[in-house]
Amino acid sequence: MSGEGRAETDDVVERLLRTRELIAGLTQVHAAERSGMRDPLLLAVSKTKPVEYIRAAYDAGQRELVEKARQLPDDIKWHMIGHVQSNKCKQLLEVPNLHLIETVDSIKLATKLDDVCSQLNRTVDVFVEVKTSAEETKSGVEPEALIPLVDHINACPNVKLRGLMTIGHPDPNEVVSCFTKLRDLKNLCMARPDVNKEDGLSLSMGMSGDLEVAIQLGSDEVRIGSAIFGERVRKGPPSG
Ligand SMILES: *Cc1c(COP(=O)(O)O)cnc(C)c1O
Repeated sequence: MSGEGRAETDDVVERLLRTRELIAGLTQVHAAERSGMRDPLLLAVSKTKPVEYIRAAYDAGQRELVEKARQLPDDIKWHMIGHVQSNKCKQLLEVPNLHLIETVDSIKLATKLDDVCSQLNRTVDVFVEVKTSAEETKSGVEPEALIPLVDHINACPNVKLRGLMTIGHPDPNEVVSCFTKLRDLKNLCMARPDVNKEDGLSLSMGMSGDLEVAIQLGSDEVRIGSAIFGERVRKGPPSG
């Protein structure tokens, strides 16, 4: 229990249940704008939190998570939301219940994933991470480079494009433009010849601080960390 004890895992469960209620409520409030859309999926983001916290969330029915796959049950669907380094692709793709990589941001990375998948005889579902604000530190592909990347992925036999992901701007006044941009870019992508028209493309946008705007603007997946697992401990850059 890494010395944290029962009270803290109970807190995780309580915050998880509250977050689910909040998402359900916001989805209703914005039902008109969201008409015809799927309900947003809640992805619980554990960052560096202990395995016990994740297990508590898992026991409360949460099956979409990130990180620490080896020590936890195999019906968890792991989403990679951190930056993917080329030399880590194999390790990542060897996780049997890796469900989705949300952070493909270059043609080079897509090619690498395709090659490793072919060695491992598997396919992988991906989102492209898009840089929707001009902040220097932001990861993701520039909007201008998105369509060539999408076309490239659609030509990779082992890499399946399922959606787009973005991290909003820390300034709440900028977030609307980030999420609106992602939505518009999705529509452009949907018009490409080889995109899977039947399943469409999902939008992964919204975190603890900008959940409502994201849901209002049509998010299919919100990635919630601190609102469930507690405040982040700042230890270097965030990892997926
Ligand atoms: C940490 C992180 C989140 C969750 O952020 P919170 O503000 O703690 O909800 C979501 N997406 C990415 C890419 C992250 O790194």
